[in-house]
Amino acid sequence: MKYLVVGGGIAGLTVARRLRALDPSAEITVLQEEPLLYYLRPALISVLAGERELPQIVVFSEDWYDKQGISYRRGTRVLRIQPARGKVELEGGERLLYDKLLLAPGAEPFIPPIAGIVGKAGVFALRRAADVERIVAYLGRARRAVVVGGGLLGLEAARALVARGLAVTVLEAHSWLLPRQLDRQGSEVLARILREMGIEVRAGVKCQEILGEEEVAGVGLEGGEVIPGEMVLISAGIRPRVELAVDAELLVSRGIVVDDYMRTGTPGVFACGDAAEWRGRIYGVVPAAREQAEVAAVNMYEEGSARYGGTVPAVRLKVAGVELLCVGDTQPQGGPHSEARHADPERGLYRKFVWDKRGKLVGAVVLGERAPPMEALVKERAAAPPLLEDLLAGSYPTP
Ligand SMILES: Cc1cc2nc3c(=O)[nH]c(=O)nc-3n(C[C@H](O)[C@H](O)[C@H](O)COP(=O)(O)OP(=O)(O)OC[C@H]3O[C@@H](n4cnc5c(N)ncnc54)[C@H](O)[C@@H]3O)c2cc1C
Repeated sequence: MKYLVVGGGIAGLTVARRLRALDPSAEITVLQEEPLLYYLRPALISVLAGERELPQIVVFSEDWYDKQGISYRRGTRVLRIQPARGKVELEGGERLLYDKLLLAPGAEPFIPPIAGIVGKAGVFALRRAADVERIVAYLGRARRAVVVGGGLLGLEAARALVARGLAVTVLEAHSWLLPRQLDRQGSEVLARILREMGIEVRAGVKCQEILGEEEVAGVGLEGGEVIPGEMVLISAGIRPRVELAVDAELLVSRGIVVDDYMRTGTPGVFACGDAAEWRGRIYGVVPAAREQAEVAAVNMYEEGSARYGGTVPAVRLKVAGVELLCVGDTQPQGGPHSEARHADPERGLYRKFVWDKRGKLVGAVVLGERAPPMEALVKERAAAPPLLEDLLAGSYPTP
């Protein structure tokens, strides 16, 4: 059996490893556009902060791939897929045949249409190792940085730039930070902690223009205010990389649409990770990419034998000195939910727990302290009422 995997990130590599375990005689090839061997994408933040070098975040050596019998072809970009012929075409013209194909091309940063954003030195987004290299090479030209977007990645990048000695302002269009994970009260506690760390936070502001002729000179806000800076880092969300799928006329909505078996609807072609859209959801986090990849691999080997049922997202803010865990549904939109909170801004503490109408815990936010068992409690849908008093007081059961 010949398996081809497009994309050598966590999703693609997890599929390759799982296929190897399932099918010792299979031919497995991973096609990876980036020149570096598989690395931990979240660890790019520590490279940006100057705490690690790129080679230190590479996970496996060349030898490991040889021993696994996985061909990891880095610096190899897939130009076109032709499912009707079981073929892919690489940049440079080489063509490869496959029996089963996995699309895991990930995502790219969303660049909002702000005036002056294109073609100016000092405007960056962060997704790949090469982005970090470019940003680091530019650091000598900047004293102040403006981060556009106050989500998790934006805040982590802001902390990394502060560690590099820059004065950093984070701009968030929503009325508060981390709008996907936190409510206003929690965000205000967080903003206070970040300010103490030297990160200026401006929420509820809209960027109108990136200022400067050839190089960034600041960001102009709606209303006329100017935030000065020599560097702008855009962190405004992701867009799944769907170009190969669109070109091959696969079903694409915001991402490559997959069913519970990670099938695309085109025979022999599967997808997972940041590029995949499952039941209208694009998770954009490592645990979902990994869980989807496990399911995809099993079905590539034996179709119909594993189903994906969704991932409970759990994220931790990797900002030194700030403990923040957001797990499950922290901002429930529909249905009857209840929530309880405890906030102590002076001490930088915030706890919020959400449960459904059956009393099952479905979400938790804990800021300012470690709460190791919360991820498991939410995943298990633990009964909330008997735990609440202790949880609100910061007394967590031993895992
Ligand atoms: C700085 C940063 C920090 C993050 N921190 C966290 C975190 O703390 N926790 C968390 O859960 N998630 C985090 N994420 C998100 C996480 O990295 C992604 O969810 C995860 O990497 C998705 O894996 P993937 O394999 O689907 O895609 P990717 O990791 O993007 O891998 C896809 C690969 O496919 C390659 N590719 C695309 N098109 C082609 C082509 N045509 N031919 C060949 N190769 C191609 C791409 O170059 C890329 O290397 C972070 C992301 C970033 C950028």
